[in-house]
Amino acid sequence: MKLRAISVLIVKNSGCAILQTMKLPESSLLHLECPECGKPFNADEVQTFCLDCRGPLLARYDLSAARTTLTRQALSARPKGIWRWSEILPVRAPAFRLTLGEGDTPLLKVDNLGQALGMSELYIKDESANPTGSFKARGLAMAVARALELGLHGFVIPTAGNAGGALAAYAARARAQAHVYMPKDAPISNQMEVKISGAELVLVDGLISDAAKLAGEHAKNHGWFDVSTFKEPYRCEGKKTMGLELAESFGWELPDVIIYPTGGGTGLVGMWKAFDELEQLGLIGAGRPRMVSVQAEGCAPVVRAFNGKSDRAQFWDGAHTIAAGLRVPGAFADRLILRAIRESKGTALAVSDEEILACQKELAVVEGLFAAPEGAATLTAVKHLLQDGWLGKNERVVLFNTGSGLKYL
Ligand SMILES: *Cc1c(COP(=O)(O)O)cnc(C)c1O
Ligand SMILES: [Zn+2]
Repeated sequence: MKLRAISVLIVKNSGCAILQTMKLPESSLLHLECPECGKPFNADEVQTFCLDCRGPLLARYDLSAARTTLTRQALSARPKGIWRWSEILPVRAPAFRLTLGEGDTPLLKVDNLGQALGMSELYIKDESANPTGSFKARGLAMAVARALELGLHGFVIPTAGNAGGALAAYAARARAQAHVYMPKDAPISNQMEVKISGAELVLVDGLISDAAKLAGEHAKNHGWFDVSTFKEPYRCEGKKTMGLELAESFGWELPDVIIYPTGGGTGLVGMWKAFDELEQLGLIGAGRPRMVSVQAEGCAPVVRAFNGKSDRAQFWDGAHTIAAGLRVPGAFADRLILRAIRESKGTALAVSDEEILACQKELAVVEGLFAAPEGAATLTAVKHLLQDGWLGKNERVVLFNTGSGLKYL
């Protein structure tokens, strides 16, 4: 195991930020790989994306080694949270397992809603229970942890809101520096959570794509590491834990359908990757859920590409929606998102802001869940898919509530 020089300051100061309750097995990380050209990259050096393909890199593990310790029994005895999947996560040294208690969120069976829709097996994976109130915590915990391990401690991120809040929190806990670039009309709660953590907040007159341009320039000038969605390989590894948890929660049998509100697609791609790894670990069989990507009518590049049978999503001009996390006009991982949807025999659909707001209200009234608009969008999608006959009433369906409605006040 080869480790690069580690910042002494971080090791000394972040002891309390680290999970030390139990000795977990080592990472079986081998290398990174470009899924387009197949080129391997050294995972123990700082990497970004494949410059030739302008696409994301994915982490590859020695799964035959991992399967000797990553058993169903071993897993259930480990402390809750994302780090119990240590063999198939990229962080090598236990001292870098940065945590605020993310992961192992509730999987709620929503029978009130199910009855209203005539469905027998409807679930919500409630990601609002994560630190900073959204599932962005999973990805940023992992990206920051691995970057610290590789000797970095200045970070920059363009964000629709929640990713910036999560970066600010994990950077604070690790005593690292965060610089967050956010559209100036992003939710106030996102702006506040960034500022209160002592991160630098830069409000940008434009969309996340404009924030990304500025963030990229400043990153280059100051030597900060850019943790934009899929511009580094490890946020995806953090988010894949949602797929791992789903498999375990359902007794190692995946649901029939997963409905996911898609912005940059980290969770969708991450879960799809997780399922392959679980199969190679011998923990699940060959069955896969149909992956459904939900976007907003005012910003639906993935839906347009899916319907147009294209393998690339073109930039969406004039993006607008109340679901800030879905206001991503150009997804860097478009090829991977579209491939996962198609391979899974899934689909993609766009829903209106009016429908999202009505479903947000319904979720609160019927199930007591104050969901983020992105989460509410998945309920809208279920209704459309039932109506079309694409969804069967007795199928096991999981909706992702990706964040708390409280973050949008
Ligand atoms: C970022 C975000 C999304 C989109 O997630 P991706 O994995 O980037 O597609 C959805 N919902 C919320 C609440 C978000 O913050
Ligand atoms: Zn490549």
